[in-house]
Amino acid sequence: MVSLRPGDATRSEHECSAKRCRAEAAYALLWRNPRIHGETRRKVWLACEEHREQLTGFLSVRGFPLEVVPVSGIPADAG
Ligand SMILES: [Zn+2]
Repeated sequence: MVSLRPGDATRSEHECSAKRCRAEAAYALLWRNPRIHGETRRKVWLACEEHREQLTGFLSVRGFPLEVVPVSGIPADAG
């Protein structure tokens, strides 16, 4: 039997990846570093509305391939 602790209901399943942000993420950033990740590898960062720009900017200045999708659209093999 599974018993739920009170805190579990409020904890977000998709929490923003930005430092010190605990907001619910609206977007998933799929990216890879071509120097260390293979062609098919995808890393996932989650971003709330507020931090989407900051996180995409961080990756794009490094020239990493990047795709932004809704959190509901995260591929099963990404991570
Ligand atoms: Zn955030």
